[in-house]
Amino acid sequence: MNTQLAELMDRAVATISEHAQELTELDQAIGDGDHGLNMQRGFDAIATSRDEWRDLALGAAVRKIGMTLVMKVGGASGALYGSFFMALGQQLPDSPSGADLAAAVAAGVDSVRQRGRSEAGEKTMLDVLVPVSQTLRSGVSDGHDRWTLLTELVNTAAAGLEATRPMRATKGRASYLGERSIDHLDPGAMSSYLLVKAVCEGLGGAS
Ligand code: ADP
Ligand code: MG
Repeated sequence: MNTQLAELMDRAVATISEHAQELTELDQAIGDGDHGLNMQRGFDAIATSRDEWRDLALGAAVRKIGMTLVMKVGGASGALYGSFFMALGQQLPDSPSGADLAAAVAAGVDSVRQRGRSEAGEKTMLDVLVPVSQTLRSGVSDGHDRWTLLTELVNTAAAGLEATRPMRATKGRASYLGERSIDHLDPGAMSSYLLVKAVCEGLGGAS
């Protein structure tokens, strides 16, 4: 039974619910104002479908979570987070080592890149996900202890989020605003930061 995955997803669901209004406000500023609602719908569906994935093998459970997001979330973020979790699950063995986890997260991020036809630097969730994946990979290969690595991951996510503020969006709805997208945090970068923080806290990192 995927007890730890269920605990991590509970934290993810809770943080999205707590911050739904903030995600909506960020998306009202540079998008169409539905990011909070989209994320809440998706993560609520993950919680209510728990019985369908909790007893699967870890990788299959994470893939199922990805499929739920694709099916339940209308916006771009549903397809993107959905493909992240599906590619992540595809790579995850039952008891992943740090290196397994780093490789699986990298595959998840690659899948977002491909689906979004986007790269870091375009004011999207990738500005959090790409550096987090790199920090995970280098922290694991350099042998950082668990607490250090989890703290580094949260700090990297926070810096990635903040880096979106001065960026001009070139992907997603915010790109329609051109210069007017500058000076706002990207809503998808915020949800990625919140999810990374919740998962790292759940794995025993800095809170
Ligand atoms: P929609 O844009 O369809 O209304 P959401 O509001 O739920 O969907 O999600 C918007 C977020 O999705 C953006 O803030 C951005 O982080 C992310 N996003 C949108 N398009 C792309 C893309 N092509 N590549 C990566 N991320 C993207
Ligand atoms: Mg939106």
